[in-house]
Amino acid sequence: MSVNFMFLGGAHEVGNVALELSVDGAHFLCDYGYAPSRPPTFPKTMSRTPDLVLLSHCHVDHSGMIPHLSGRSETSVLATPPTQALSELLAYDSIKVAQNENYGLPYDGSDVRRAQELFDLAPYGGNREVKSVEVRLRSAGHIPGATMFELEGSKKVLFTGDINTVDTRLVRGTKPRPCDLLFVESTYAGREHPGREETEKRFIERVREVVDRGGKAIVPVFAVGRTQEVLMLLARTGFETWLDGMGQKVNRILLDEPGFLKEPALLRKAEGRARYVRGEYLRNAAARGEIIVTTGGMLDGGPILTYLRKLKDDRQSCVFLTGYQVEGTNGRLLMEKGLIDLGTGPERIAPKVEFYDFSAHCGHSELVEFVKGCGPEKVVLFHGDEREKLAVDLENDFEVLMPKNMEKVKLA
Ligand SMILES: [Zn+2]
Ligand SMILES: [Zn+2]
Repeated sequence: MSVNFMFLGGAHEVGNVALELSVDGAHFLCDYGYAPSRPPTFPKTMSRTPDLVLLSHCHVDHSGMIPHLSGRSETSVLATPPTQALSELLAYDSIKVAQNENYGLPYDGSDVRRAQELFDLAPYGGNREVKSVEVRLRSAGHIPGATMFELEGSKKVLFTGDINTVDTRLVRGTKPRPCDLLFVESTYAGREHPGREETEKRFIERVREVVDRGGKAIVPVFAVGRTQEVLMLLARTGFETWLDGMGQKVNRILLDEPGFLKEPALLRKAEGRARYVRGEYLRNAAARGEIIVTTGGMLDGGPILTYLRKLKDDRQSCVFLTGYQVEGTNGRLLMEKGLIDLGTGPERIAPKVEFYDFSAHCGHSELVEFVKGCGPEKVVLFHGDEREKLAVDLENDFEVLMPKNMEKVKLA
């Protein structure tokens, strides 16, 4: 097997994913993202222009640097239609956030437009040939459109991007695929998720309690995936549900590509029931309603801050965190210390704060099971800051590699 690879970012960290991968002389770049921290961090410079970019999904830690590349080269970007449309939306949002916060970003709107022209769209099961290597797209079960790439040359290589093997409301979980060399994400190495059904049940019950007692259920969400999942769950309550922020546009994109959803009719119904907030005066109406679903998921920006300012003295209300809160974010501060910065420094707020784990990633045991199902000779762990915890459970059965960023690996 003639395989060389090097991570430009995203090996021992979550964010900045960029993997230069050569198989039998065909050169690929798997994902090209940056870390949307404050300030953002970026992957290292590419060592060569790839023959083809393989983009697993739209999250900016995987797609955020695509416009930078496309503004400077002719290389095609292979992805599914939802990944293209969502990456475009998130790239424009990145530019907006960078401007608001005075951070530099290595591209502008014209690069984003150019990137859109270089996308090569394919469905799950679709394939492309690069030299003697066949590339095939497989569902990753992470969010709609998220893809694992199978590369078949003299040996079979699988790059997972972000994966989930558990069914969610939005997408079916993915399944292992036999391969010789596996690149697998390790976000949740050493950590397990509670049962999905149990989490959903507790979430709905608590939302009901809060609203029945006259409080508001304030649900900060990520625009892609979590917004739709939460809306589908909340549709069952029959409460007045307002949707604010970028999730509105994401709904439209996902409903335009129903083939990538598990049950498009359910999402259509749920979004039809939700009231869309458009303009500031509707925010007052929403704040008097029963449930508010809005970006940003980590409380660092977006309409969520407006709602928290309006409701910060309301003891009956409750903030339902539904996603992982990265260190250094407002969401983490609220979760751990009960404090939040609404623009004038950290302060205590009256609403309760609760956390529900609706992760779209495999937990530790699911990752181990996935690797065993693929049965590779070698496993490369990436996209994790605690990869060793996963390696411990794999080392007896597989050769496990944990390269650092910029470490060149040559497999004979
Ligand atoms: Zn992701
Ligand atoms: Zn990721």
